[in-house]
Amino acid sequence: MCFICLHSPYLVASLVSELRSFLLQDLTSALTKKITLKTPLISSPMDTVTESSMAIAMALMGGIGIIHHNCTPEFQANEVRKVKRFEQGFITDPLVLSPRHTVGDVFEAKTRHGFSGIPVTETGKMGSKLVGIVTSRDIDFLSEKDHSRPLVEAMTKRDELVVAPAGVTLKEANDILQRSKKGKLPIVNDSDELVAIIARTDLKKNRDYPLASKDSRKQLLCGAAIGTREDDKYRLDLLMQAGVDVVVLDSSQGNSVYQVNMINYIKQKYSELQVVGGNVVTAAQAKNLIDAGVDALRVGMGCGSICITQEVMACGRPQGTSVYKVAEYARRFGVPVIADGGIQTVGHVVKALSLGASTVMMGSLLAATTEAPGEYFFSDGVRLKKYRGMGSLDAMEKSTSSQKRYFSEGDKVKVAQGVSGSVQDKGSIHKFIPYLIAGIQHGCQDIGAKSLSVLRSMMYSGELKFEKRTMSAQVEGGVHGLHSYEKRLY
Ligand code: IMP
Repeated sequence: MCFICLHSPYLVASLVSELRSFLLQDLTSALTKKITLKTPLISSPMDTVTESSMAIAMALMGGIGIIHHNCTPEFQANEVRKVKRFEQGFITDPLVLSPRHTVGDVFEAKTRHGFSGIPVTETGKMGSKLVGIVTSRDIDFLSEKDHSRPLVEAMTKRDELVVAPAGVTLKEANDILQRSKKGKLPIVNDSDELVAIIARTDLKKNRDYPLASKDSRKQLLCGAAIGTREDDKYRLDLLMQAGVDVVVLDSSQGNSVYQVNMINYIKQKYSELQVVGGNVVTAAQAKNLIDAGVDALRVGMGCGSICITQEVMACGRPQGTSVYKVAEYARRFGVPVIADGGIQTVGHVVKALSLGASTVMMGSLLAATTEAPGEYFFSDGVRLKKYRGMGSLDAMEKSTSSQKRYFSEGDKVKVAQGVSGSVQDKGSIHKFIPYLIAGIQHGCQDIGAKSLSVLRSMMYSGELKFEKRTMSAQVEGGVHGLHSYEKRLY
């Protein structure tokens, strides 16, 4: 998209006079025919981008996460369930130990996770009887020779614990924690089984999320990707039981009979479920999926940061053109478009939205955040996380799901369409998404659009113009002529 420059007829003077009211820009936009988001941002269904932590964070800030399917159907459904069951402040999948674990295990957990208030249940899992909790106070004065002692000898036992019953509100839990002066509050059901835990430190950090994407039962919205083969129908059933709100039919080339059949199947079996079809890059491809009944289209081929599709398959299309062409066609049928791939900066998000996309899907931009799956590692002193294409050999070797996206399952010779690499630590999504939101608002403000629907109508009416930038204009549009500089974005 870097060849396109947005050009607005608004004068600087009129922008300045409008400044105050414009700061309240409305970024509400349609994800699908029936789902609207307050933040037009989506995390991509990639195994180094979206599992439950990312999906929870995205939904809290008004966007949505699509859980990847390079895993078993059970794992994926469980990730969806974690998002749907998420209640702010309640940790439903904490680290849990059993009485047979040792003091050494607690020290190890402390080194890896940086805390030591760990609930102890009979089986060492959630949903099992609570038998105690082990905190710093229980182990701080123990020496090296105590490391092999079982936790049952070191932990604070169940009868000394303050707990709260399942169903307690966050406010009630907060009051109990205040009175008890404890750091952790286990939540148990009628059978005294551990269902959640609340941490004092998390309560202090709790904030309001006025933009949060929620369903009618006030649960966070969550999406999941599936393929179009027979066994994906079983995956779909599990996802439905977990409460998924939208499924994305994950294919690098979505204009296929498999996808049309799957759309028909889903629409017959789960008529209320929102279905995103794709990927497509032309109006002709979009037509088949729109006729089959999709609720949104995912647009992009060959433009992802990890993608080698254009190089290997000689297929793809420049993303700005794809988004404009498909959106211009799909809007006649009320089908929103997701611009997927190639987003490197917040400016690219503004360009995608200006070209007709309703929402934007990101991989690399959200990779290596705290909420992305995977551990950080250091290389040459830089803190990194892995980020890989779902069509990379690395990802295809993990499971057949990503092979299906790239039509490779069963092939003796695999043809990679993506690479595997790493991205530098970006910190938490909770800081990064507000930066993106503010950046989009500033972009709209400079263009002179009070909302994303105004932005799109300005483009279709011709009020918003685009100019092709020459090579020298592009150089001029970037930082230039400095001996050195530091680029801090937020
Ligand atoms: P990014 O935001 O530029 O990193 O692009 C992410 C998008 O690239 C994803 O949402 C997918 O549509 C696409 N993608 C993911 N894996 C691959 C791959 O291996 N090859 C080509 N495209 C991919």
